[in-house]
Amino acid sequence: MKKSSRKIFQFLFIICLLVSNFYIPEAQAKTLGSMREELEELKEKYANNQLQIQLTEEEIEQTKERIATIRTTILDIQENMYELKNTIEQLNQDILDKEAEIEDILVFFQVANGENSYLEYAFGAKDFTDFIYRLAVSEQLTSYNNELVEQYKQDIEESEQKTKELEQEEINLNNERDDLEVEMTKLGDKLEELDSDSISIEEQLEMMESEIELYTSLGCSDDQTIEQCSADVLPPDTTMWRPIPTGYISGYSGWRISPIHGGREFHHGLDMSDSGANYRDYPIYSIANGLVVYVDNSNTSSCGGNKVYIQHLINGQFYTSGYWHLRATSVEVGDVVTKNTQIGIMGGYSGTEYWDGCSTGAHLHLELSDEPFNNENGGSENIYGLRDGFLRPELNINFPSKGVYWNDRTTKY
Ligand SMILES: [Zn+2]
Repeated sequence: MKKSSRKIFQFLFIICLLVSNFYIPEAQAKTLGSMREELEELKEKYANNQLQIQLTEEEIEQTKERIATIRTTILDIQENMYELKNTIEQLNQDILDKEAEIEDILVFFQVANGENSYLEYAFGAKDFTDFIYRLAVSEQLTSYNNELVEQYKQDIEESEQKTKELEQEEINLNNERDDLEVEMTKLGDKLEELDSDSISIEEQLEMMESEIELYTSLGCSDDQTIEQCSADVLPPDTTMWRPIPTGYISGYSGWRISPIHGGREFHHGLDMSDSGANYRDYPIYSIANGLVVYVDNSNTSSCGGNKVYIQHLINGQFYTSGYWHLRATSVEVGDVVTKNTQIGIMGGYSGTEYWDGCSTGAHLHLELSDEPFNNENGGSENIYGLRDGFLRPELNINFPSKGVYWNDRTTKY
């Protein structure tokens, strides 16, 4: 009984844990003031990240140096082993030669006619002194050669021992190099942002600053949410239109295999293009009436190229739209636009926007969100422009299926 009640208690406890994990508190509406605080937090995080990046880069540099040293050492070892191998071969040859020489002497003095030859040589002496001398010469020659052979054998043994040691050292160094190369990959991953549509923290900071500055200059107060304030300052609208008059969808939003790095990633936008876009300047329009809140026309952004972000009030609902890979932009922050305002030109071709590493050809990457820029998911490593309140553009704007060409900006609404 006791045991089963404990089991029930454990079961209930687990259920509580599960439920508490699924319970997500309702997000607090963001005010301009709280966004300012977030901006400060993000700046701090950015400074921290910069430090981390610097440390990681230093670590990579040191690892690289260590790998280079190991490579040189291995080459030295291999050269040493090659020399030792030659020495051993030479010594073996010397032994063979010496043994042959000993053999010759023995043959000459002893073996040819048995003991007699040696004795004849010894006894062929003119006198006793000569006899002793002859004996000594024979013995010295033989023992000297024997000593030499012994010495050679010892040298060979030493060389073989040295070779074994070098072989072991080479194995150890190879292992260390392999470990270091794995470490390098890990460090590289730490530095690289995997998503092919990720925004750097620097750019995120710029976006938030641009947005806060703009709404402040438009008279919004710190305790107002962007949504509340935008109701007064955003030009209202009722529909969203296709941002390009002609074209086709080249890639849906959502999970996909990245065309950049080949890994699985979440694509935070809808890709569209038009025929020969690499070599033609296709105009891009705002999807609805709105207010331009961020423009990057620096021609430097390594992911996404030049960008424009516009905020809208559509049927009383707040939205942000983002336009990436622009060859050029034609609006400024604070501009009030309509759906007929050209905001830029389609780009993203490596021949012209060579700095934009997140594009495989000229196209428009359109993002949509029902939130302002913020840092709600700022706990993660990567921070994105419109990742909070992410909406799939293809479900909110009227588009034909992927690859189907359109000739107007017809709306769904
Ligand atoms: Zn895209």
